[in-house]
Amino acid sequence: MAKKQFKAESKKLMDLMINSIYTNKEIFLRELISNASDAIDKLHYKSLTDDKIKVKKSDFCISVSIDEQARTLTISDNGIGMTAEELENNLGTIAKSGSSLFKEENKHKKDIDIIGQFGVGFYSSFMVADKIEVISKAYGSDEANKWESTGIDGYSVTKCEKENYGTDIILTIKEDTEDVDYSEFLHDHSLEQLIKKYSNYITYPIKMTLSHRELKKGSKDEYEDVFEEETVNDMVPLWKRNKSKIKEGEYNTFYSDKFFDYEEPISVIHTSAEGLVSYNSLLFIPSHAPYDYYTKNYEKGLQLYSNGVLIMEKCKELIPDYFSFVKGVVDSPDLSLNISREILQQDKSLKTIAKSLEGKIIKELETLMDENREKYEKFFEAFGSQLKFGVYDNFGVNKEKLQDLLIFTSSKDKKKISLAEYVDKMDEKQDSIYYVCGETVDKIDLLPQVETFKDKDLNILYCTDYMDEFVLQTVGTYKDKKMVNIAKENIDLSDDDEKEKLKKKNEDMKDMLDIMKEAIGDISEVRFTNRLKTHPVCLVSSGDITIEMEKVINAMPTDEHINATKVLEINENHKIVDKLSELYKKDKEALKNYSKILYAQARLIEGLPIDNPTELSNLICDELA
Ligand code: ADP
Repeated sequence: MAKKQFKAESKKLMDLMINSIYTNKEIFLRELISNASDAIDKLHYKSLTDDKIKVKKSDFCISVSIDEQARTLTISDNGIGMTAEELENNLGTIAKSGSSLFKEENKHKKDIDIIGQFGVGFYSSFMVADKIEVISKAYGSDEANKWESTGIDGYSVTKCEKENYGTDIILTIKEDTEDVDYSEFLHDHSLEQLIKKYSNYITYPIKMTLSHRELKKGSKDEYEDVFEEETVNDMVPLWKRNKSKIKEGEYNTFYSDKFFDYEEPISVIHTSAEGLVSYNSLLFIPSHAPYDYYTKNYEKGLQLYSNGVLIMEKCKELIPDYFSFVKGVVDSPDLSLNISREILQQDKSLKTIAKSLEGKIIKELETLMDENREKYEKFFEAFGSQLKFGVYDNFGVNKEKLQDLLIFTSSKDKKKISLAEYVDKMDEKQDSIYYVCGETVDKIDLLPQVETFKDKDLNILYCTDYMDEFVLQTVGTYKDKKMVNIAKENIDLSDDDEKEKLKKKNEDMKDMLDIMKEAIGDISEVRFTNRLKTHPVCLVSSGDITIEMEKVINAMPTDEHINATKVLEINENHKIVDKLSELYKKDKEALKNYSKILYAQARLIEGLPIDNPTELSNLICDELA
């Protein structure tokens, strides 16, 4: 019988499939099972609108069977089936969606990318089979037909026998090559795994005969293969089930099975949304960062399903970077299976879903913070830096959304508090939110600048994360309260009288202070302060770059180095002032040495390195001797 030729476009695509070097060949199974499920859907739908069609929903099924000897894999369904004409039209040419995808992508991409993450339906079978037979009987017809093709050279359609309506797709699987183990598609258990992976939530049972090794009856050590027909898929996914009927344990099992986490998630967010875009989603907030989370190998993303069929393992468009730790699945009937990655990025439905999910995650975290602080702190320890990154990334465009999720240590009780809690508890007259950065809470607590604040019962946020300074500067103001780093200049908690007194003292002793400044060299000013209580000196920064930033940037493995403009402040009430005045009058050289020592002390307190430790040590010895 003369072979018919495929349409030109189909031919091109088929050529690609046959010679495909695409590694994800297994998706053909997903495509065939989805087609089978669609065919059953069609018949089911028809039966609902046509009384003459008598089919029982419970009879619907898809079956997958293998014949290892003949190297055939058969996917059968009892769906609507196809007439001879339909076989011609549907399989002789690529379905519309497929062909437009083909053209669209081929404009600027290399051929092989067509397959990409998405299948192109029926033709993907040519990646694994060198012969395909489709035996089909349309519902209500007496006649069955067989479509057959060995690839590029065309296809034939002939009459044949088939008892029941529906379609059998028989693939003759390619011989193994050095690189590809095609025989994998002839092993019951590997097929079972593939069905579970891609088609677990197809709403009709997918049946397979599976082999199990069992002890032979009456024998103690002899085994035999027992074959049993089983339904491989779960059919109704957890995310499509009614929330009120799901037990917490079910969520946890699902989470650990799917995302391979040994620890239970901190939160589960189960949503079913209907409206402009309908979707079901099941999101999890892990309780700890995965081992590769802070490496570049970590890929964020949610599993994306369209009506129970997996279309992408990690859809990164669904989740912003600052929530990259969130795991989960999204299922929407509004997304098409044959959609390409490029199109997906611009897909409006997807954007709508992503936005709504983001809102849900924020709300969940806020609730957790309010209702279970212990859990929230655990979460924050694992992923807080992600949220901080979100606040300051992109010049703070997302700060409004995220700033309420931040927590810092409070100086008063050393507990973690949010910005809102800080503001709630502070005196009405206080116009700033005070913070200070350092290595650890204990070290910060000993900083000279902190003392007067404590004395005046003012709360300070202790920031121990290297990015806190940047984050809080990005926040800028919160509820009309300015963020103020108390280690920066111009913080004066004293009253007008005290201020005036200090000003005068600085003016009166300007000459001495200038000599000190000259001796130190590295700083913009030396002055008296009343912000210190018992400590003699401290270092503050003036200008935008703080000492904390200098430390962070200079610790990075780049050549970039910055210098904060520093001011050495001397406690005006400390007894060292008398000594300095005395030296100013009697021994200017000693005054210079004292200045250098005091500056070195201030640097040490701030955790800054000493440029010349030998010189410092000699200076100290000179004064001691
Ligand atoms: P798509 O599924 O994207 O339309 P395919 O190439 O997979 O593209 O399939 C082409 C067409 O062939 C389908 O649209 C459908 O009409 C028909 N078809 C494929 N498989 C079956 C089947 N098992 N039963 C009935 N019709 C089928």
